[in-house]
Amino acid sequence: MKYADVILPLPLENSYTYSIPMDMEKALTPGCRVIVHFGKKRYYTAIVMSIHERKPDPSFETKEIYAVLDAAVPVLRRPQLRFWQWIASYYLCKLGDVYKAALPFGLKLESETAVSRIDDFEAEERLRPAEQSVLDAFQNASKLTVSELEKKTGLRNVVPIVTSLMSKGAVEVSEEMKRGYVPKTQTYIRLTEAYHNEEKLHEAFDMLKRAKKQELLLISYLDLSRALNPMLSRELSKKELLEHAGNTPNVLDSLLKRGILEAYEKEVGRLQMQICRLQPLLPLSSAQEKAYNEIHDTFKTHDVCLLHGVTSSGKTEIYIHLIDEVLKMGRQVLYLLPEIAITTQITERLAKQFGDRLLVYHSKFSDNERVEVWNKLLHTNEPMLILGVRSSLFLPFKDLGLIIVDEEHENTYKQQDPAPRYHARNAAIVLAGMHGAKTLLGSATPSIDSYFNATIGKYGLVELTTRYGECLMPEIISVDIKELKRKKIMKDTLFSPLLVERMNQALSQGEQVILFQNRRGFAPMVECKSCGWIPRCVNCDVSLTYHKAHGQLVCHYCGYSVSLPKQCPECKEGEIKMLGFGTEKVEEEIASLFPATVKADRLDFDTARTRTAYERIIADFEKGKTQILIGTQMLSKGLDFGNVSVVGILNADSLMNFPDFRAHERAFQLMIQVSGRAGRRDKRGTVILQTSQPEHPLIRMVQQFAYKEMVSLQLSERSMFHYPPYYRLIVLILRSRNEVALREMSILYAGKLRLRLGDRVLGPVTPPVTRVQTLHIKKIVLKIETAAAIAPVREILEHIYAEMQEQPAFRQLLVHYDVDPA
Ligand code: ADP
Ligand code: ZN
Ligand code: ZN
Repeated sequence: MKYADVILPLPLENSYTYSIPMDMEKALTPGCRVIVHFGKKRYYTAIVMSIHERKPDPSFETKEIYAVLDAAVPVLRRPQLRFWQWIASYYLCKLGDVYKAALPFGLKLESETAVSRIDDFEAEERLRPAEQSVLDAFQNASKLTVSELEKKTGLRNVVPIVTSLMSKGAVEVSEEMKRGYVPKTQTYIRLTEAYHNEEKLHEAFDMLKRAKKQELLLISYLDLSRALNPMLSRELSKKELLEHAGNTPNVLDSLLKRGILEAYEKEVGRLQMQICRLQPLLPLSSAQEKAYNEIHDTFKTHDVCLLHGVTSSGKTEIYIHLIDEVLKMGRQVLYLLPEIAITTQITERLAKQFGDRLLVYHSKFSDNERVEVWNKLLHTNEPMLILGVRSSLFLPFKDLGLIIVDEEHENTYKQQDPAPRYHARNAAIVLAGMHGAKTLLGSATPSIDSYFNATIGKYGLVELTTRYGECLMPEIISVDIKELKRKKIMKDTLFSPLLVERMNQALSQGEQVILFQNRRGFAPMVECKSCGWIPRCVNCDVSLTYHKAHGQLVCHYCGYSVSLPKQCPECKEGEIKMLGFGTEKVEEEIASLFPATVKADRLDFDTARTRTAYERIIADFEKGKTQILIGTQMLSKGLDFGNVSVVGILNADSLMNFPDFRAHERAFQLMIQVSGRAGRRDKRGTVILQTSQPEHPLIRMVQQFAYKEMVSLQLSERSMFHYPPYYRLIVLILRSRNEVALREMSILYAGKLRLRLGDRVLGPVTPPVTRVQTLHIKKIVLKIETAAAIAPVREILEHIYAEMQEQPAFRQLLVHYDVDPA
């Protein structure tokens, strides 16, 4: 008897053992999807991890695998499973968590998956009785879960049936309203069987003598499709035919009715790129050439190279040259970018060089598109370039030669929720290692962690200190807003006179302006003028942000919202006062400062909820339809605008005063990145940096682009206080509705940990926000020497976790780990 260890999409165990029925033995290989029964009446799509003959513990009933989904080609390539195992073990989570994050939704189904019938579905072939009865079950319901379908049909397991109905386009599945994978089809036109010879065609033309338009359309069809010439004929889409023949769908309809032509549906991929002419690579400047050669040399001795190149130094162009080279060697390349940095800008730039070798993998793509990228990679042996966000690390790569992690300092590379809470930059390095590939990290403001690794020789370091085309770095002028407020020069305004002056200058010369404020909404906080009441979220321990457009007070942690009261609900008399300001307020003030001919737009989480909205805002600014772009840190992500001469940082204080050991590093990166949007081509730009602490050392370092000074100051603090990169942080996050249980359990937990790990254990500590979504939070922080192996630590953690589970009150807690929090 053979057994398979499979991964289920559950965070309980790493794997579960099932027996393999004889008739499946041949088809099953590691990496295949199978359907298994688990728990009470639940079926899941599982992944086979390994096959063996070890008999499992006889005290449990071992179930059989129910069905195999991938008979020919496993959905995973072998190195992927190894990568999953690494993620689960390093980031202290279960393989099931990794499985859930890794596979596009359309490739996995479970009992709780909601299935709905597609209304206009018509079967092309007879459905099997089981399929028909599943469809019939939808009579009074538009949506049913897999287990409800089982109840209604009385069938033992409908997962495979749903899978096959899905591939026929009869049903779709949804999670968070997403569609399951449905192939895309397009209508094609052909001659009917009856008219597929010259003689019959003559008859047809005779018939059409009085229908000139139909005659012409038929001629067009024959012309374009060359249907009568078996050597040259090709399939012709309805769209193409109509485009060439004067867009007359009703004329075509008549020909279809006469039975001369017929329409048929054909599956087409969604991935077709605009076919554009490939362009030759741009020659590199001598500085770029030098950096390029240094990267090459570094890769002879190192697997990882950090490219520290100032904004606009032409890093992307260097990447393109490296990609080209690796593709020519027949290997694949993964180009990682933070979520919102993948724009049409970069996609078009790469498509021009690499054409249909380029695949884009983005979380804002539909699940169908993601399944197609997955399948394409699974079935191709071509060298491909994949441009993707962090989840693209999980794609079925064949032979990676290079991973580029652009904007490597971005903290959005770290997944926050749910598990696996992995850091895509660090995971990329591990994945590259598994493929024998190199990793290139690129940034104008490298993370201190990576820079440290480069200075100790773990990574290679290549520097690019000049902008492309002798463009100058911008001039950064700080403005003391505290002083201006004291002198009543900046009374009811967010803009210093200098900023207004520079903006006016720029606009009058037809140049553009970017304004940065890292808070969205109108006012981050409101307060009663007479009694001091501050509205707070009912679910979280935070004050509510006022959003003027909807007249709502909104919680930025859970989305809870209420309308702004006209009057203070506490004292019933006080007026409500706004404190601080967000992008919405900046936009309002711009409208009153400048004439209506000056168009401003806003780029933040509220205005850029969808990919199209985001791209429209950027395209409008690029084309000069808008002159001022106001935004949060979304602005800082690798955008390349040619006409921006002034950047205003409206308030640097809130960036610097954040309670986190990385606050200064991050503030420096953000300010430099935002400044980098100024004066990119032929003119030196200006940055006006408004702050009430102009004498703060960090402000001076930003003004002087003193990256290395910032790093060495931070490093000395971090070494003193046992922070990364000298120590590795592992944070235990404990949450509960029951505040008392949480307090007691976290003290007990920290105590047990301290017994084993000593003063490496800190806490329990109460985070700045003590309650989110009705759950109170405590953290226990572990600081482990970077040189120490992580395996023994993991053992201790698992052991103590098991001990804690013996405490009844512990069941009221949710516990997870965050390794290397960002
Ligand atoms: P970075 O990625 O370092 O911010 P980019 O690669 O976006 O910089 O380059 C900045 C600008 O310089 C872009 O507009 C780009 O088109 C241009 N550029 C860079 N390298 C070259 C080159 N070798 N030839 C022509 N233009 C270049
Ligand atoms: Zn009041
Ligand atoms: Zn809330």
